[in-house]
Amino acid sequence: MTVGCKDPKTGKMMKQSVRVSNPTLNFINVPIVRDPKLIPRGLPRNKHLKIESNGGGHLVREARVSTLLDSMRASSPARARPASAATRAASLDDEQKSWIQRHPSALSMFEQITRASVGKKIVMFLDYDGTLSPIVEDPDRAFMSDEMREAVRDTASFFPTAIVSGRCRDKVYSFVKLTELYYAGSHGMDIKGPPPGSRCNGNRMNNGESVLCQPASEFLPMIDEVYKTLVESTKSIPGAKVETNKFCLSVHFRCVDEKSWDDLAKQVKLVLSEYPKLKLTYGRKVLEIRPTIEWDKGKALEFLLEALGYANSNDDVLPIYIGDDRTDEDAFKVLRERGQGLGILVSKVPKETNASYSLQEPSEVMSFLRRLAEWKRKSLRASL
Ligand SMILES: [Mg+2]
Repeated sequence: MTVGCKDPKTGKMMKQSVRVSNPTLNFINVPIVRDPKLIPRGLPRNKHLKIESNGGGHLVREARVSTLLDSMRASSPARARPASAATRAASLDDEQKSWIQRHPSALSMFEQITRASVGKKIVMFLDYDGTLSPIVEDPDRAFMSDEMREAVRDTASFFPTAIVSGRCRDKVYSFVKLTELYYAGSHGMDIKGPPPGSRCNGNRMNNGESVLCQPASEFLPMIDEVYKTLVESTKSIPGAKVETNKFCLSVHFRCVDEKSWDDLAKQVKLVLSEYPKLKLTYGRKVLEIRPTIEWDKGKALEFLLEALGYANSNDDVLPIYIGDDRTDEDAFKVLRERGQGLGILVSKVPKETNASYSLQEPSEVMSFLRRLAEWKRKSLRASL
């Protein structure tokens, strides 16, 4: 299909081809887990598994889950597996050590990261929920601290900086409140740059116009219709919350009793059966409904790099992407495939990931951003 995007160089609207994927509801992508101990509970372990190499030595797995309920349980483990406390602690400790060796802390590897950036322009990409703000029960209250906002502002004063979120762009802007950033909302399906005249560092378009890309705009009426239908059909399930993110929808079930998850899954599948052009994916305690176009956070990262003048083969840029969720893996994978830049996964627990480094929680993200800005400040002073 063809979608409309604003050309980053001329500012004119242009047509862009986007491949449409198969929207079969029963096929859901999950990250490959090489260590059987790390396979999420509820995921079938010995059937319907397909393992592929993605060229970078990392693997992806596609699992045919028998029901949507299976995938909800798999992505949202509620309880620890039965085991003695001591056995489990020892096992987790080993897993943690092994994982940290493969994905070292971006703070402990800070010198190595800054050495890799010599002669290159760092471009910073930041997820929002779980990266800049803590994960909270009520998604409308995922506020960012003033300290974090200051760290992001400081970072953006030295490096072009983009927020890449599954949320609606206006919503994530209402949390971040920094005009000098790029915002890619709706999993990258709604990208906008700083308005002309705003203060930003080296990230202004050559023509002075704000970059804009909305590859799923033709889906807006359909998404709006499904939002209204889902609100109505799920209102009898206590705790279910349908959130519109403009170009995609989220059905949160973190406040729904597990006994009602099956009801919720049936309602969502029933509604979506009428809309073959929409697909269903999932994250932790959330179902995501998105257009079937092949556009994700990885595509948004590529679009923004190109908009900033860094083409595929350009060696002068070091993109750094920090995120905590499955949807951020699309961006980590793009960086691996480009052999350029680095991905940092925010997680306290071992997860299979295409990221190179890790940070444990948003407070560590803040420390990393502060340190990066301070390092740049000192480098600039030293070069005077
Ligand atoms: Mg997140």
